[in-house]
Formats: sequence, structure tokens, C-alpha cells
Amino acid sequence: MNDRDSERIAGILESEGYLNTDKVVDADLIVVNTCSIRQKAEDKFFSQLGRFKGLKKRRPALKIAVAGCIAQQMGMAIIKRAPYVDYVVGTQNIHAFKDLNALNSQIITEDNPQILELNFRSKRKNTLKALVNIMYGCNNFCSYCIVPFTRGREKSRASEDIINEIKELANKGYKEVMLLGQNVNSYKGDVSFAGLLRYIDSIEGIERIRFMTSHPKDLSDDLIEAFGRLKKLCEHIHLPLQSGSSRILQLMNRKYTYEEYLEKIQRLRGRCPDIAITSDIIAGFPGETEEDHNLTLKALKDIEFDGLFTFKYSPRAGTAASRLPEQLDEDTKDRRLQEINTLQDEITEKKNKRLIDSYLEVLIESPSDRAGFDFMGRTRTNKIVYVNSKNSIPYGSILKIQIKKANRHSLEADVERP
Ligand code: SF4
Repeated sequence: MNDRDSERIAGILESEGYLNTDKVVDADLIVVNTCSIRQKAEDKFFSQLGRFKGLKKRRPALKIAVAGCIAQQMGMAIIKRAPYVDYVVGTQNIHAFKDLNALNSQIITEDNPQILELNFRSKRKNTLKALVNIMYGCNNFCSYCIVPFTRGREKSRASEDIINEIKELANKGYKEVMLLGQNVNSYKGDVSFAGLLRYIDSIEGIERIRFMTSHPKDLSDDLIEAFGRLKKLCEHIHLPLQSGSSRILQLMNRKYTYEEYLEKIQRLRGRCPDIAITSDIIAGFPGETEEDHNLTLKALKDIEFDGLFTFKYSPRAGTAASRLPEQLDEDTKDRRLQEINTLQDEITEKKNKRLIDSYLEVLIESPSDRAGFDFMGRTRTNKIVYVNSKNSIPYGSILKIQIKKANRHSLEADVERP
């Protein structure tokens, strides 16, 4: 979501005549697009901001703007802490970059329903894969999460706007779209989320559809049915579990039990046996006992996710979980995180090894960023494949390739005749 906002901010600034520079000392305007999901990201932001203070002193004409979730959450407090910041632009007001000089306030963080209709130019990072917002905000209030406070309540874009944007992307040669929303299953346009997927599936030129993220409690039968039925919908779902203990899930206000989650996984795999499932786990939530932690480890063994994003619990001011009495010490959280990572690494590697010798459909995306390989691509299940080929392969090609080797985080293959 944040990456997509950065693309839009860059696009707006470019249409206003700004040029991009890699050298911060050359900049007339520095925009810091921030994340506040964890304390670490917030700390990094303030130390980065501190480095810009000297630049501003040497060149007072330099403008510094802070955007994103920290901007939304802290507003004026940022200027109090760093008076050399010129503008604070919240998550629903990035249109303000259209004319910063015309702003009559340094701080713009109000709720903005027009965010749905804003259609400014984007400077997209990738020419094959595009991020497409379908909704903004979240109504769920998981007890650890700051997002409902920084992104506001759920707002869905009209399906017609989304489809027109994707048709335009297809005309420009994009092959893949990633539909973005904090909880795509709550999409409430004039069609359901599964209905929207059906429309997008029929857009010529688009070969792959992905989405991020769906909440387990809202995973509808309709969506489960779409897997394996819609040709372009990739066989991958990111479905955050967060904990294997139903007691902790309740404290997290996730509104499902572990058993209910497991049942949805079984239905997804029943519908689409090859589906890759990735997830998020938080280690060391307040009040988590060794028994709860062991239930999470057991869940990882039982489910065998294809990959996992793991996080050490980080209290965010203003959230319900930050006020829970039994906050765990850092050593316990670190140890539990380590145990989760070690176990999942084994599972991921074991699952990848099962793919050796199989033929998988790979979208060739870019030159390889790993020495010794020519290309980098991805399977429909979102696994990275490093490819060697004697011949050149145009980016955007989709090939059936036999997997030769599997590592923990990637697969390897040779292409003899593309
Ligand atoms: S569903 Fe929960 S974790 Fe996800 S953004 Fe909403 S409140 Fe945060």
C-alpha cells in the first residue's frame, strides 16, 4: 500500500515538473513516505529525518515533506520534534502534492472520501506488474494494529474505475496486477470481490491476477471457488494467521479461532490442491504463554505454509494491545521469533524441494539479481525462479520450465530452447 502511494506521489510531482534524483543533496524537495506498523520503522524514520536537518541548514530553500502513516498519526507532533519539516501530508491527502505551495496549512491529515476518485498520474516502478488499489482503510481493529487509525475506515473504489485502470495497464503491456486493500474480502463496490475478479479475468492482455491481503474471517466461499476456476487468478493466497492459539487470537480481536482458520485452509486446498499459502505470525503478543507459543509451532507443522512473514510484537501507542498488562520481555519475544523462523525455514525448504523436476509456469520478470543466472522470474505460486538460458528471453514471456534445484527462498532452472 505504501509502495503504491510512493508511486502516486512520484507521479504527481513529475506532472508538476519535478525530476527524480538519487542524490539527496541535489533535491529541492525530499518526501519521506513513512510506515508506522512497528516501532522499528518509526525509529528509522526519525533517524533518517535527523540526517536531513543539516541539509536544510545549508540550503534553507530545500523543502521536506513527510507522508504516510506516521504523518497521519503524529501530525503536528512531527513538526514539534523536527521543526525543519515543511509539510505533513496524511494517507488520504496525497493529492496535496499537486501544489504544495498553495497549501494553507503545513499539516493536512483530514478524512478525505474523495481519495476514491483521485486519478493522478503514477510513476510505476515496474513495467510488467502493477499495483492497483481497490479499497482503502480497515474496519477490523485487530488489537495490535495501528492501520485503522492511520488509514481510516474502509472505502471501496467503483468497479468500473478499477477495470478501466486495469484495461489501460493491459494496453501498456502490463501482464500482472496485484489488487491492493487492507482486507480485499470486504470490498464493497457494486460487485463482490469475487465478482470483481471475474471481470478482471476477462481483460485481454492481463495474464496474472494477485491480491493482498484477505482476512481469514471474511474468506468467502465465492473466493475459494474462484481459485482453480478463474484462469488468470494465481494459485497463491496470503492469509495472515498471527497465532496458533485461539486464546491469543481472541485477545488480538481477530474474530476467528485456530480451528476455523484451519478449516478454511482445508477448503482452499480441497478446491485447489497446488495453491501456495503464505501467512503472518506475531511472536510474543502480550500474555502469550509457552503453551500458546507451542500451539503456534504446532500450527506451522500442521499447515506447512509456503512462506511466512514473522514479526516480534511491537506495542503501538493508542492500540488496545499496548494497554494489556502482560507485556513480554524482549528476550522472550526474540527467542520465540527465532524458534518460529527456524521451524518455518525447514518447512519452506522442504516444500520447495518437492518441486524439483516439476514443470512450472514462470513469468520472466527481469535480469537476475543473483550472480551466475541470467533471468529472474516467478511461478504462479509466487516463488522466485532464477533461470539460466543460452538465448535471450524477452521480459514478460511466460514459459513452462523444469525446476532443477530448490533453495530455501528460490528455485533454479535452465532453459534450453525458449
Ligand atoms: S485486518 Fe487487522 S491487522 Fe489487518 S489492517 Fe485491519 S486491523 Fe490491521
